[in-house]
Formats: sequence, structure tokens, C-alpha cells
Amino acid sequence: MKHNFGAGPCILPKEVFEEASRAVIDFNGTGLSILEISHRSKEFEEVIAETESLVRELLNVPAGYSVLFLQGGASQQFAMVPMNLLPEGGFASYLDTGVWATKAAKGAKKIGQIDIVASSSDQNYSYIPKDFAIPADSSYFHYTSNNTIYGTEVFHKPNTSVPTVVDMSSDILSRTIDVSEFDLLYAGAQKNMGPAGVTLVVIKDELFGKSGKTIPTIFDYESHAKAGSMYNTPPVFSIYVSMLNLRWLKAKGGIEVIEQENIIKARTLYDEIDRNPFFKGTAAVEDRSRMNVTFVMDTPELEAEFLALAKERNLIGIKGHRSVGGFRASIYNALSISSINALIDTMREFEERKK
Ligand code: PLP
Repeated sequence: MKHNFGAGPCILPKEVFEEASRAVIDFNGTGLSILEISHRSKEFEEVIAETESLVRELLNVPAGYSVLFLQGGASQQFAMVPMNLLPEGGFASYLDTGVWATKAAKGAKKIGQIDIVASSSDQNYSYIPKDFAIPADSSYFHYTSNNTIYGTEVFHKPNTSVPTVVDMSSDILSRTIDVSEFDLLYAGAQKNMGPAGVTLVVIKDELFGKSGKTIPTIFDYESHAKAGSMYNTPPVFSIYVSMLNLRWLKAKGGIEVIEQENIIKARTLYDEIDRNPFFKGTAAVEDRSRMNVTFVMDTPELEAEFLALAKERNLIGIKGHRSVGGFRASIYNALSISSINALIDTMREFEERKK
């Protein structure tokens, strides 16, 4: 059995892949593939309606918010957010906590004025800045809740009365959140929700038309909301597989249940990193992510040796991102505790060998 610690795209439970593969041949006894049915058919309308209703139920989305399924990845949101929310002459505040947060800010800068309220670039983004002020006249405040590359996570929304936008690409559906704290949240699906190709946007309807600017229809949230995410051809397969995965999550008991599992998985792995003298966590302890666990060893030689052993033990995708080096174990919802134990056993085996 392979243990997939990869950061994406699309780490889902085996049973979801199995059901999706059957639908590629024959979707629900229609004799047609899910890939070829019309997106305007009754069958697909049911799929998108169920996907939306599962998102609403699992995330407990309050009334007054639209749930959209868009394309262009989370990266497209880096531009769509300011296009829709930043009026002429206004400015938006951004928290810089890593590569994706920087890209979000850079994307917004092409549309309007932005202000970086704090950055942890001084320590290679190994912590979350705590002490910063968000100007009350910002049009909105943007942050990234989980920094996929650096293994840090923001568990509590920074305190502000300014409309808040959050990129939850790598921790959406992994822990309970209070959607009403946010004005807009977005997530590329490809970690905990479904295959790449669909992006979830949950937006407060009050924000429609907020920038007062004329923007291309394809980038206008309101046009997608009015069209029920069918302004143009939706990514049918990605939405369908997301629906299957959301059903799996609901059957498991929902986000409260998966959150407890994720807490145990992360704690078990961090405990071993802290105990085992060969490994060292890279993220500040209080900011450690429950989704991406980053750690290093003392020398590149030791790291190469451990990586080779990990490969022998069927541990896939643990090589760290080049910005941090070492290792990154991505432990999304679908990764079971038995995979965490397989990694820990390998870390202990390495320690024994080196004693
Ligand atoms: N934001 C975060 C936190 C990510 O982890 C990623 C990709 O891994 C992105 C944004 C970019 O997403 P996409 O490739 O869907 O544009």
C-alpha cells in the first residue's frame, strides 16, 4: 500500500476514486459517461445542486451567502477579489505569510492599491505575524489560512471589523470555521475537496458590485451567482468528484469528526518530530499546520538517506518544497492515521539504524 503525503493535486479516499471511475464509464445507469453528459441535463443539475447543498451543510454557510464553483484555480481569485471588491481610490490590506500570500498580494497590486500589514519573510515564513494593525479604512483584509509550503496555519481570524477575505485552499473542510466571520472565502478544490479544475467561492451577497467598476462578466461574482455557477460550461467532472468526496465526509460525521482525526494525526506526527533527535520541525510551534507538516534533518546527506528509506517503505511525496527543503508531509483529510504511523515507524527505524 502506498502512503501519499503529496501536497496535491487531489488526495481523496480510495472509495471516492473507485466510484468516480465507475461514473466515467456509466454515470448512474444512464449509459453515458459523466464526462459526456450535458451540463444542462437534469442529471448534472442534480449533481451541482447536491454539491452546493453539501458545502452549505458541512460548512454551515449562513443565509445571505452564495456558494460558487468557478474555474481558474485559487490563482484566478488573486485577481477576481480586487476586481470585485476594491473601488477606485480604495486600498486593501494583505498579510504576507508565504509564497501564495505574496502571489495574492502581487495579483491584487495589478488591479489597485494594496498595503502589506505584516510579513514573516524575515524568517522564511516559519511563523505567523501576530502584532499588526489593519487600517479601518481598508476596503478589505486578505490572508491565507494555511501556508501549504511552510507548514503554518492561522487558526483564528485576525481581529478586525474590515471585510475579510481568506484563501483556504489547503485547509478548507479540515476544521470547523464560522463562515459568518468572513465576507469571502475561496479555495482551489485540489486538497480536501476534489480534483483540480474547480474553485470554491463562498461570498456574502452584499459584496456584489462592491468595487463599482465595470469588470468582464466572466470575472464578476454576481454573474456566476445569478447563473448558478453555469454562466459558462462548469468543470463537470471536478464538481462530480467533489460531490462524492463531500458525501464521504458527511457519512464520516462531518467536519467536527474529521477535525478531531486531523488533530490526532498532526499531534502524533509532531510528537515524533520533537522526540526523534534526527528530525526538527521548521514552523513555530504555536503556528504548526495540521495539514502540511514541515521538518528537516541536520545534513543533506541524512535527508537523502531518509528519503531513500521512505521510498522503500512506500511513503510518497514527502520531499519538502524547494523554498523550505527537507520534508513536507501533507496530511489532508483522506490520509489515514495508519499512514501517519507508517511514517513514524520509518523515522524510528532510521533512528535505530543510526544509533
Ligand atoms: N493558495 C494556496 C494556499 C495554495 O496552496 C495554492 C496551491 O497549492 C494556491 C493558492 C494556488 O492554487 P491554484 O493552483 O488552484 O491556482
